Amino acid sequence: MILKQFEELKSFLETPRNVVIVGHRNPDGDAMGASLGLCHYLKKKGHTPTVVVPNEYPDFLHWLPGSDNTYRFDWQNSQAQRAINASEIIFLLDFNALHRVGQDMQNTLESYQKDFVLIDHHQQPDTFTYMYSDVEMCSTCQMVYHFIEKMGDLNLIDSEISTCLYTGIMTDTGSFRFRSTTSLTHRVIADLIDKGAENHKIHSDVYDSSSYGRLQLLGQALSNLKVQSAYKTAYITLTQEEKIANNFKKGDTEGIVNYALSIQGIVMAAIFIEDKEQGIIKISFRSKGTFSVNQFARENFNGGGHDNAAGGKSDLSMEDTINKFNKLLPKNKEGLLKSYEV
Ligand code: 5GP
Ligand code: MN
Repeated sequence: MILKQFEELKSFLETPRNVVIVGHRNPDGDAMGASLGLCHYLKKKGHTPTVVVPNEYPDFLHWLPGSDNTYRFDWQNSQAQRAINASEIIFLLDFNALHRVGQDMQNTLESYQKDFVLIDHHQQPDTFTYMYSDVEMCSTCQMVYHFIEKMGDLNLIDSEISTCLYTGIMTDTGSFRFRSTTSLTHRVIADLIDKGAENHKIHSDVYDSSSYGRLQLLGQALSNLKVQSAYKTAYITLTQEEKIANNFKKGDTEGIVNYALSIQGIVMAAIFIEDKEQGIIKISFRSKGTFSVNQFARENFNGGGHDNAAGGKSDLSMEDTINKFNKLLPKNKEGLLKSYEV
């Protein structure tokens, strides 16, 4: 593990500190698991940590231990601001640049005078005082484990910390199946199970908690699926009307893009989700092999992420966004067709 100025950070953390921990906007299992896992750990070390979550996160993560003791920046703003003002250091988890927390919170963090610690596995991170960045890592939760290891504190990992970290590793690896899942990941997971993570229960709490509406929405999404076989690409659309008709709740669309990627021979999958409130089409991209959806999202849809999982957005209408996407496919044909030839 290479954490810039680790020894300096370690000695700073030898005194009890007020700490704020922040994950990205629209937090996923990794952002929440890493934030809460680190929070439990810092508390055990005698610090006073507060997790500030930029906005709403899916119901299927609300059972995570410590979830009730967080502040939402958007609707508990004064408490969140107070915690930030009182903090002596801020941990930034599972994102690579301050704009990923949303505009209002970005403004607050940009005027913060003290130091940040970044722990993250996304590409091309901005620079902060203390940084542990590793794009090879499957998840920020695995990095939090290695951070605790480097602090010499693996013995402090209890069932709460294990449960949080297991959850993020599981969700960010698609249940230990993506390429980023290594033998080391499995060793970390084994240790987390030994230290109290109830793996069968965590899988069930996260994946067997669909509402009827979510499955209806999935049915709609699958019937909207289009395949562009000449470009080894498949994509799904969901309009605002379709979301409303199926009682859409935050988190309901999570993972749906993977159905498009599960078609034999498909290299790139995308889901386009209309968000009339924000006036955008939110896009998730996934790929297999060498075709980088991080680059594709950065270049064309104001986004980014990882080589095989990225996101972006479009200000155009759904129809115009799809037209734009389809026009980009011929330009990327070579990369798409060669993607499996690793
Ligand atoms: P998801 O499709 O699951 O929302 O996101 C996949 C990956 O892409 C995640 O690692 C996420 O952090 C990243 N990502 C999603 N949306 C955006 C975006 O708009 N901008 C950037 N830079 N990254 C994104
Ligand atoms: Mn992550």
